[in-house]
Amino acid sequence: AAKTAGRNGIRFFDPRMQAAVTARAALENDLRAALDQGQFTLHYQVQVGCGTHVVGAEALIRWKHPARGMVPPFEFIPLAEETGLILPIGLWVLQTACAQLRRWQDHPATADLQLAVNVSARQFRQADFMEQVVAVLRQTGARPDRLKLELTESLALDNVDDTIAKMNALRALGLRFSMDDFGTGQSSLSYLTRLPLDQLKIDQSFVRNIGIQHTDALIVQTIIGMAQSLGIDVIAEGVETEAQRAFLERHGCTLWQGYLFSRPVPIEALEQRLHSGLGWQVVAGTTSP
Ligand code: C2E
Ligand code: MG
Ligand code: MG
Ligand code: MG
Repeated sequence: AAKTAGRNGIRFFDPRMQAAVTARAALENDLRAALDQGQFTLHYQVQVGCGTHVVGAEALIRWKHPARGMVPPFEFIPLAEETGLILPIGLWVLQTACAQLRRWQDHPATADLQLAVNVSARQFRQADFMEQVVAVLRQTGARPDRLKLELTESLALDNVDDTIAKMNALRALGLRFSMDDFGTGQSSLSYLTRLPLDQLKIDQSFVRNIGIQHTDALIVQTIIGMAQSLGIDVIAEGVETEAQRAFLERHGCTLWQGYLFSRPVPIEALEQRLHSGLGWQVVAGTTSP
């Protein structure tokens, strides 16, 4: 068998580490092939406003692996980011979401819907990101003002001026921006408030603890107040119970997303619901497909 310690006592061939490295390499290999093989799909989760009115949806990627089954995003998005595969994958997400938006524009029941798309920091920082978005909008015919890009706080950590300039250029086209998982990052508030955002998205970790952890309820109220002082929208993610929804509404947050309304679902399930004209009723357990 192989030498177990290197010159500096570093173990080169720790079998467990070796197994982890092999597993990661296998996943990376499969990830590289996944786009060509059409293994990705988007699921859609509704965003609901007062009166359980559907205002839009968030597109969430799903990887249907032929052997592993459904691989959840948290198992492959970080790897995609490390390897750079997030760039072609992210472009595919944008193209697929915009093609969907274009189809929605043809029907009165869906013409006003906004579609939110997650954009990773690495994707946004590409020098030609703006050109990619413009090309996708042109190719698909999607209305720019129906597209909302969800950014994460890590984006604000460096090159704030570049980020602001890029966001402003895209906003001039009509695009909107939401700050995803708001309150969980390392970035300073002064940075975040400089960004030309249209919406703050309260992270589900705070929403989950409404009614359980007093400090998290306070954080939720603080974020709502912050959005109000900035004059922008605020939406809560991970809303699972009527009590959470009611708390949010009482404190001025009237846009919600979560299992209370629907899980992320394939496009057919979403459209069936939208065209049925039934809307979403705020009754836990009766609306999730
Ligand atoms: P996110 O953007 O913060 O999305 C919200 C996540 O919370 C989704 O997980 C969604 O399924 C889940 N969720 C929604 N409502 C509830 C609820 O009521 N309760 C609970 N427990 N969870 C809820 P998902 O789909 O597994 O995605 C995880 C993360 O992966 C996303 O977090 C996002 O950061 C990333 N991701 C997903 N799709 C994409 C994509 O197309 N591009 C990029 N760059 N990242 C993506
Ligand atoms: Mg998101
Ligand atoms: Mg989020
Ligand atoms: Mg989140």
